[in-house]
Amino acid sequence: MDALVSLSKRRGFIFQSSEIYGGTGSCWDYGPLGVELKQNIKRVWWRDYVQRRPDMMGLDASILMHPTVWKASGHVDNFTDPMVDCLECRRRFRADKVDETPWVHYCPATKGNKFTIPSGEPCSHCGVTRTLCPECGKGELTPPRQFNLMFKTFMGPVEEDASLTYLRPETAQGIFVNFDNVLQSMRRKLPFGIAQIGKAFRNEITPGNFIFRTREFEQMEIEFFVNPLETVDGRPADEYWHERWIEDSMAWFRRYGLSEENLRLREHAADELAHYAKRTADIEYHFPIGWSELMGIANRTDFDLKQHAKFSGKALTYFDEERKEHVVPYVIEPSAGVDRALLAFLADAHREEEVRGEKRVVLRLHPELAPIKVAVLPLLKKRDDIVRTAHAIRDELSKDWSVVYDDTAAIGRLYRRQDEVGTPYCVTVDVQTVGDQAKGEVGDGKVTIRDRDSMEQIRVPLDSLGSVFRELLGGAAWASVAGRFERKGDGTGA
Ligand code: ATP
Repeated sequence: MDALVSLSKRRGFIFQSSEIYGGTGSCWDYGPLGVELKQNIKRVWWRDYVQRRPDMMGLDASILMHPTVWKASGHVDNFTDPMVDCLECRRRFRADKVDETPWVHYCPATKGNKFTIPSGEPCSHCGVTRTLCPECGKGELTPPRQFNLMFKTFMGPVEEDASLTYLRPETAQGIFVNFDNVLQSMRRKLPFGIAQIGKAFRNEITPGNFIFRTREFEQMEIEFFVNPLETVDGRPADEYWHERWIEDSMAWFRRYGLSEENLRLREHAADELAHYAKRTADIEYHFPIGWSELMGIANRTDFDLKQHAKFSGKALTYFDEERKEHVVPYVIEPSAGVDRALLAFLADAHREEEVRGEKRVVLRLHPELAPIKVAVLPLLKKRDDIVRTAHAIRDELSKDWSVVYDDTAAIGRLYRRQDEVGTPYCVTVDVQTVGDQAKGEVGDGKVTIRDRDSMEQIRVPLDSLGSVFRELLGGAAWASVAGRFERKGDGTGA
């Protein structure tokens, strides 16, 4: 995790929020490369789930909503975490997570020496397990009490109870309250889904682990409405679609680069299920902090639509033409955090390799997610014709992709910089490309493309660059494209 935090800061992915004022707890700002990566994650998600599917539509609901929404949804009464306080240092912890961090221990078997013991383990000297505050190692913890995670705010200029509302703690409710609007305006038949990407806010008791748990984050959520009276493949429609969404979501993360061995499914036990859920499965990822939730896929039944119908007095039903009756749809909710997804993609892509005895740090990001797709590098920055050609290539390619020009170091160092931020391809313009007028040599009009992962290089005619990158960035394997061109020495940059 330390390597990711440091790389993120050094290379412009993620900065601590308000850093010059000492930073704010648990808030992070996405820098120039981080914002590209984040937008790419959201873009492919939207494309795959909204644009490409005939049964899905998008929505962008407001963050501030009518306060009764949160009463109806159960958040005012139930959106709580159990909190304990240290009576000595006053720090607060989530009771159910307090054993998931390393703990400080003054060991009586070693004359009170201070140790920091890995989470969940007993002291190897005296054998005790943690009972006191994990941070100061001295204070007793209070019994747990419930703490509501919603941020309160006031609508309008008067700070009084009547104007009290909340920053949304999930995007889902914006979809439920718009169910009938979408149904009427878009004339859909069940099953169909509504997707939304947006900010959510939770006053987490113990935020931390970089962007894993923050108080302001983004969600990519789908509410997929199904007819509970129908069966598919001999199973109730809600159970069938729940299974489909679990498989689909797993496949989506694998498609964009998460390794099979770092992903697993975890079913919620009956006593852990949220009050609205019939079944919930989490996709867990093997983060640097251990196995933790990446996304949840819940069968929320008809709970939310029924609650909003009850509190608003509006019918939120679907007319089943075949059965001639009104039904309240069941809903399957695949819900992923954008920031957690970004952390998983970063962690999985990050490698430290040895190339010719030197360390190479590389982000093997999926090309669709990579913040920069192509870096154009002149081999000699003193040669005007080389520099001009390189700028022209950047200008042309940047009509379609995010492309940078860099001439601030020698080629080996430029390659390493691009490897470190996950740029899948570099284009190098050299003397051979433009020729040497002084010597009466004409150029061959070809440039070198270097592949990040294999470090192989090919010579490609300038007028083929656009079509070659359309193939490569459109998903074609390097080997299948490279085979058609002349090879050039290796691109280790050594
Ligand atoms: P956790 O158990 O980690 O608190 P949760 O079960 O409360 O998460 P959900 O309500 O299911 O989370 O939210 C859906 C997704 O939103 C999560 O899988 C996660 O990716 C993301 N998410 C939730 N809380 C946070 C947070 N505080 N910071 C970043 N992402 C979050």
